[in-house]
Amino acid sequence: MNDILPDAAATWRLVEDVVRGTIESYGYREIRLPILERTDVFARAIGEVTDIVEKEMYSFKDRNDESLTLRPEGTAGMVRAGITNGLLHNQRQKLWTVGPMFRYEKPQKGRYRQFHQFDVEAMGYEGPDIDAELMILCARLWEKLGLKRLSLEINTLGTQDNRAKYRHELVKYFSAVKSQLDEDSIRRLEKNPLRILDSKNPDMQRLIAAAPVITDHLDVESRAHFDGLKLLLNAADVPFTVNPRLVRGLDYYNLTVFEWITDALGSQGAVCAGGRYDGLVEKLGGKATPAIGWAMGVERLVELYETSGGKAGVLAPDVYIVAAGDDAFSCGIKAAEILRDRIPEIKVELNLGGGSFKSQLKRADKSGAAYAVVLGEEEVAGNRAGLKPLRDREPQVDVEFDELAEAIAARLRK
Ligand code: ATP
Ligand code: MG
Repeated sequence: MNDILPDAAATWRLVEDVVRGTIESYGYREIRLPILERTDVFARAIGEVTDIVEKEMYSFKDRNDESLTLRPEGTAGMVRAGITNGLLHNQRQKLWTVGPMFRYEKPQKGRYRQFHQFDVEAMGYEGPDIDAELMILCARLWEKLGLKRLSLEINTLGTQDNRAKYRHELVKYFSAVKSQLDEDSIRRLEKNPLRILDSKNPDMQRLIAAAPVITDHLDVESRAHFDGLKLLLNAADVPFTVNPRLVRGLDYYNLTVFEWITDALGSQGAVCAGGRYDGLVEKLGGKATPAIGWAMGVERLVELYETSGGKAGVLAPDVYIVAAGDDAFSCGIKAAEILRDRIPEIKVELNLGGGSFKSQLKRADKSGAAYAVVLGEEEVAGNRAGLKPLRDREPQVDVEFDELAEAIAARLRK
């Protein structure tokens, strides 16, 4: 679980603002959800035989002996909120949220125990139009953030019916080679054979490569949905590849699944992943509602932004006020408030704790501010202030105190 220090946080903010803006430009509304849910919300939604539920959840009993879990992902809580607040009755919802998720994983680059996700979910939409739009949204976001090495992989798991038939094919195949399966896969064979395809064990890859693929077993409805998605992605000029082995680690998916992956971050290359979960609302106690969504890992996104040459977020104040002497400091407090009044979004840092002109100017420089406002006895007596550019070689100028805000505003606009 990482501390996100100020320099990093500034870049996070910059990236997050772009993500928020992009998501909202597609008509999604923000929802804020609890970080704790009853454990069974996740157990039922994600599925008992998944990495998350089997070994990654932070669960504990509260004082009432009820099992609670720090959310490992966003969809289950979103659906639970949709049901408990009646958001899904005869209405459609396009919702987004962002925040920390918790999984007991082996920490490594790009994989942490507290990490952050943007979650976008559309409930009440059958697709494939919304399926395509959710991916088009991502493509726009990459463009805005200047990310290049991202590619889209899509697959279909078929309708629930179709998925069940394919499951049967898989059980047949893997049962015949059962002696070569690893322990995890043997356990999954009975309960959730699709998950075998998601195994990261290198020894399993040869068997997985030879397993039947869903795309050879699609029924008419599943194929139509998938073809519709591909058509719309092509129409929107969003390149993709079909990866028939993409199954995703969570149980609730059907039809469309997809991942945006990059080769720029080493082995943790999935930046955004999602899919359709038409059965989940009903499974959690609501009325059957088609739905689809994606989750984007903020750590991986920010890292990719940085490796793509994205500029760092700005931490530095615009103006640092240097004020030597008691009268000058009183004047400095006033000046700082006037600047904050008159110039929207300006960042002003007032020198606190006194010090000589020289030491205050050193702090001003270190703060990264673009300008220092210099106030001394002389300036105060003459109702003036010194305005000193700190980042270029222009000379310090003297301005009337009343004109200070305007002088700074004009320079910041440049
Ligand atoms: P992986 O195969 O990498 O374990 P996953 O299938 O468990 O991923 P999802 O549950 O689909 O991941 O989460 C969506 C996104 O959240 C991932 O694509 C990734 O960007 C991010 N993510 C997932 N787990 C972590 C983690 N432990 N640390 C950082 N980011 C993560
Ligand atoms: Mg995982």
